[in-house]
Amino acid sequence: MLRKLQVHLRDTFSVPARIMKTMSVPEGSYERSRNQYNSTRILREILKETPPDAIKILGIVDRDLCIPILTFVFGEAQLGGVASIVALARLRQEFYGLSPDDGILFERLCKETLHELGHNFGLIHCNDRECIMYLSNTVRDVDRKGTTYCGSCDSVLYLKTDPWRVQPWNRR
Ligand SMILES: [Zn+2]
Ligand SMILES: [Zn+2]
Repeated sequence: MLRKLQVHLRDTFSVPARIMKTMSVPEGSYERSRNQYNSTRILREILKETPPDAIKILGIVDRDLCIPILTFVFGEAQLGGVASIVALARLRQEFYGLSPDDGILFERLCKETLHELGHNFGLIHCNDRECIMYLSNTVRDVDRKGTTYCGSCDSVLYLKTDPWRVQPWNRR
């Protein structure tokens, strides 16, 4: 799934993507009272792993993440910054008592990954319900929105990724 995602990210941003070594879940990120992991704490550790030649770094964790003010988060990103994180737990059908489905999981993972990386490239939430930058509060919201950026988010990305682009921008 990571390799498929790598190709998807490269094709979306026209910037090379590389898979890094697996990190262990940072000590102290587990919140016993909630049986969840502190997203911001893990994000901070991911940031420390940023290779000198990388422009962004994304962590994918197979855990349920939260931040103090929200019961859960699908992911978190530094707005206009370097690091982001996506949690698999609530993207899995099993979480909702359904049979596992790798196809559905991959589509949700792509959407949430592009959403968080969009924040890294400076995009804020978009009012277009079809746009990947639309805020998802539930997995139903994730499924309902489209798989790409709307025209206006796309044009911001075009400018932000310009210095690193190695492939043609083929979405317009
Ligand atoms: Zn968001
Ligand atoms: Zn948009």
